Amino acid sequence: MALQVVWFKRDLRIHDHRPLVEAVRCGPVLPLYVVEPELWQRPDCSERQWNFCLESLQELRDALAGLGQPLVVRTGDVVAVLEAVHRRHGLAGLWSHQETGNLWTYDRDRRVAAWARDRGIPWRDFASFGVIRGLKDRRGWARAWEQRMAEPLLAPPAALPPLVGIAAPPALPSAGELGLAADPCPQRQPGGRQAGRELLEGFLRQRGRGYHRRLSSPLTAFEACSRLSPHLAWGTLSMGEVVQEARARRLALATLPANANAGWSRALDAFVSRLHWHCHFIQKLVRQPSIEIQELHPATRGLRRTAPERLAAWSEGRTGVPFVDACMRALHHSGWINFRMRAMLLSFASHHLWIDWRDSGLHPACQFVDYEPGIH
Ligand SMILES: Cc1cc2nc3c(=O)[nH]c(=O)nc-3n(C[C@H](O)[C@H](O)[C@H](O)COP(=O)(O)OP(=O)(O)OC[C@H]3O[C@@H](n4cnc5c(N)ncnc54)[C@H](O)[C@@H]3O)c2cc1C
Repeated sequence: MALQVVWFKRDLRIHDHRPLVEAVRCGPVLPLYVVEPELWQRPDCSERQWNFCLESLQELRDALAGLGQPLVVRTGDVVAVLEAVHRRHGLAGLWSHQETGNLWTYDRDRRVAAWARDRGIPWRDFASFGVIRGLKDRRGWARAWEQRMAEPLLAPPAALPPLVGIAAPPALPSAGELGLAADPCPQRQPGGRQAGRELLEGFLRQRGRGYHRRLSSPLTAFEACSRLSPHLAWGTLSMGEVVQEARARRLALATLPANANAGWSRALDAFVSRLHWHCHFIQKLVRQPSIEIQELHPATRGLRRTAPERLAAWSEGRTGVPFVDACMRALHHSGWINFRMRAMLLSFASHHLWIDWRDSGLHPACQFVDYEPGIH
């Protein structure tokens, strides 16, 4: 029987995974992840991101194996990999989540779409987060986001029939094998769904109280923020589950006496509104992909030039401005810094050092384990 390929990209989970649930209804499923060396060679990719992805893939492989069919990992160009699977096993359908990445991933998805069309293979790609493709204007978007977030969460399929004749997955490539430069990050957050679940539970039960008061200072933010961003960016958690659990917790806390509940309602409202921002900014990139390479405002075009020395000093945390340098070094060390400090660092690069934003944008993109092109 021809295969239903579920193509995992930045949705590394089996929970609340619509493509997986729908594909299982149509026939035997091949869960596939393609390591794309060309993608990992892009200037916004880094070893720390790959290591987080790798840990998440290992956990996903085990979770799928628990259902009966482990994740199949191939390395190469996606179209070439799909063509090889199709020739050998026959491919009846392709299933995935939509990815709002950068122009490179957009172009790759167009090549996949053209290939699937040529072969007469239906490709169903489901919306990710609360992002809506093809939206003419933003009226009604907030309502649609609410509807999306209220959709019932999907349980993983009960079982995946094991496939015969699929070569055992080789060891996942190391960062070195992908040609990624060494990028030590001693306090990088660990990948994988389990780590994401622990963060979410810890935040909703304990750390999140007073979030709205403590998220802005870099002294308190490391502990007070949810730290869920890499899990949302790599899809080990779904946006729907985070929103629904935060709202359920808020409701449950509202029934407690005022002293037990103090600080929680405002904290969780502030948190959910940031989850909304997440999709809001990605939606902007979907509507106007040119902002990856072009200024939003034409008056600012060509205003700043490449400035290698200032860029190096800023990137290495040696501008001589202690606050800026400390934030940059904290980012190097942990792969994360809070929202206000991200804004401060980038603003300093643009307004004080007068560095072209295309140059200053790349360095933090690589440093962020949670790199999400639409937000960044
Ligand atoms: C210059 C700049 C670049 C950024 N680049 C990224 C990026 O590459 N990836 C990324 O996930 N976030 C990015 N952000 C947004 C924000 O800084 C991070 O989402 C947040 O710091 C992540 O930490 P957290 O999960 O603990 O957030 P929390 O404060 O706990 O918030 C929960 C979630 O809400 C969303 N969120 C929070 N703040 C924002 C925001 N300002 N805009 C959009 N969504 C938000 C994120 O999904 C986050 O995980 C950037 C912000 C700036 C100013």
